[in-house]
Amino acid sequence: MLEVTGLRAWYGEAQALHGVNLSVGEGEVVTLVGRNGAGKTTLVRCLIGLHRQVGGTVSFLGRDITGMPAHRRARAGMGWVQDDRGIYAGLTVEENLLLPPKVSDRAWTLDRVYEAFPVLADRRKAPGTTLSGGEQQMLAIARVLRTGARLLLMDEPSEGLAPVVVARIGAIIREIKETGVSVLLIEQNVKFAATVADRHYLLSQGRIVEALDNSEFRRREVQLLEHLGI
Ligand code: ATP
Repeated sequence: MLEVTGLRAWYGEAQALHGVNLSVGEGEVVTLVGRNGAGKTTLVRCLIGLHRQVGGTVSFLGRDITGMPAHRRARAGMGWVQDDRGIYAGLTVEENLLLPPKVSDRAWTLDRVYEAFPVLADRRKAPGTTLSGGEQQMLAIARVLRTGARLLLMDEPSEGLAPVVVARIGAIIREIKETGVSVLLIEQNVKFAATVADRHYLLSQGRIVEALDNSEFRRREVQLLEHLGI
């Protein structure tokens, strides 16, 4: 699905990523964990085509997309769940859901969205601005599913949300995986990461320093928390 080889990234003269290798398979959920400043956001921005000062290669669904602009990556099936949630404040929940262009025949219908996210069905006429943090996060995820994206990239979907909402987001990520869609998420919440992901990459100072399957990740949870300083 996604293969990243030797990815380097710069901000002017300053190098932020130093040869990152990672992969995400079909229907796999993979997390990227690391301290603040490790390069997680830069990496995701490189993958979605928003950071262009890069070296190395990114291939998606067997195609080299390294030089491809962001809008074409989206059309190819790369879905970004924006970290600021990117919701149109002046539009209702349903209007927000009707906006995304369909990029594959896996696009979720409105009915399917409302079945998976009953809270969005209840709030369908509500303006985007009146949603709680958790509802906004669900709307952001649902909007990407509406496109039929094959890979979802998420930046800390659990951040700032109540535990019950985090658990619901976890369940949704597992449901998404069941449909064969892949997920790559940045996550600082190690406990949450362990409940949703198949594999994990630990990023430190712009390098992948560990690649762990979930059982190993769970065994080393205490050590990882120490590394992350949280
Ligand atoms: P956080 O969790 O704090 O967002 P992160 O792991 O996502 O951290 P990045 O934001 O990708 O890390 O930052 C990686 C490195 O790149 C850091 O050294 C940071 O200072 C630098 N960096 C990030 N954005 C810029 C920018 N716009 N200009 C210059 N340097 C930047």
